[in-house]
Amino acid sequence: EKKQRLLVVANRLPVSAKRTGENSWSLAISPGGLVSGLLGVAAEFETKWVGWPGVDVYDVAGKNALSKSLAEMECIPVYLEEVFDQYYNGYCNGILWPILHHVEFPQEDHNDRNKTYQTQYDAYKKANRMFLDVIIENYEEGDFVWIHDYHLMFLPQYLKEYNKNIKVGWFLHSPFPSSEVFKTLPSRSELLRSVLAADLLGFHTYDFESHFVSTCTRILGVERTHEGIVDHGKVTRVAVFPIGIDPNRFIKACELPEVRQQMTELKERFAGKKVILGVDRLDMIKGIPHKYLGFEKFLEENPDWRDKVVLVQIAVPTRNDVPEYQKVKDQVHGLVGRVNGRFGSVSSLPIHHLDCSVDFNFLCALYAIADVMLVTSLRDGMNLVSYEFIACQETKNGVLVLSEFAGAAQSLGAGAILVNPRDVTKVSSAIKEALIMPAEERDERHRVNFQYVKIHTAKKWGDDFISELHATFSESNMKI
Ligand code: UDP
Repeated sequence: EKKQRLLVVANRLPVSAKRTGENSWSLAISPGGLVSGLLGVAAEFETKWVGWPGVDVYDVAGKNALSKSLAEMECIPVYLEEVFDQYYNGYCNGILWPILHHVEFPQEDHNDRNKTYQTQYDAYKKANRMFLDVIIENYEEGDFVWIHDYHLMFLPQYLKEYNKNIKVGWFLHSPFPSSEVFKTLPSRSELLRSVLAADLLGFHTYDFESHFVSTCTRILGVERTHEGIVDHGKVTRVAVFPIGIDPNRFIKACELPEVRQQMTELKERFAGKKVILGVDRLDMIKGIPHKYLGFEKFLEENPDWRDKVVLVQIAVPTRNDVPEYQKVKDQVHGLVGRVNGRFGSVSSLPIHHLDCSVDFNFLCALYAIADVMLVTSLRDGMNLVSYEFIACQETKNGVLVLSEFAGAAQSLGAGAILVNPRDVTKVSSAIKEALIMPAEERDERHRVNFQYVKIHTAKKWGDDFISELHATFSESNMKI
């Protein structure tokens, strides 16, 4: 029996490619929420991935060889070389990312922005067209096309213009802001209309969904009914699908001898101290400065703790080509220096700030030995790091201090200590509460969160979205 085909379309293919010769490439799967979510779904469907391969390739021979290797992994590349910088660094990460995280347009450097806006917008549309062309080449009648994220907001409309019967779902992995914020974007209506061309739209939380819906009703004048968003008789379903992780991957890693060894070494290294852990890309939305200000206040007010606690912050480098990201890095480094200068001693420093990524096993070891995980995102689609921490804490039952502004606050709020990261006093008192929390309360909070993480997996997320997309069509067929 032939399986239903599913085309998963995202900016980035789930592999990393390295050129090993004129005509040869080595490929490795790069696992993330999306990949583990869809590996589960993949079993029921014949799944193909469409996306940018993560490398620039300028010669035809190289492209051919890479396409061929990718095909063996069910991956279809979209080569974006000529538009990539303006599309990705420019429009996606310079314009859409801030606005989706509630920063009004334009951001600080008005002049530059206004000059480059049109160029970046054009590149964005061009890139979406390049995705369209690749999908058309590979589309077979009846395929489900599941588009991911803000990089591809024009694709639903382009696909439907090409063939209105293509079954299109779109999922937003980031937050969606209030209409007052989204309204400040020049191309707001075009983007919204295009997304609404899809059959099903998915969001991580009810807040993001309702912001999206009210933005559509206010800006476009469309209607919300129990069926979804209605525009001249066309219905777009809108629903909430919170993503999760593959918890077993983390649980198993924590049992590996190598990881155990790393845990022992870390425990020795930090003997006699409580460890607070932060793991974030160095992005302004992660509120790393706010984390440091809260920790500084905690040290200020609790002199007894100064040599009994460390904050280990993994600050993963990200989007180095976007100017705002260089600024936030300087700001963060300044704060680390100040806090360590004020509260450090010859033998200990309160903040261990690392500008690097860590490998998966070491990350699990860090999660497992931490006493407290501190997440202070100013806005965050979900924040999978908090899920991963919980999955690795089966023996320790550490405490999660979590920003109210992360999508995860909707799901892990019962077990975590929730904070407003902009409230320095609250961050400081939450750190203290977490550090002195009695074992019984820690166990109970962890139990609640662990159960959630075990049940609401990435696989469940993928299954739920696809079956809803499926249902959208079975029902509309019934009506005919
Ligand atoms: N991560 C990583 N390398 C690191 C540290 C973390 O790949 O050195 C992973 C982490 O395991 C998590 C992801 O990066 O799966 C971050 O996801 P999250 O949802 O927390 O935030 P995002 O970066 O997507 O905004």
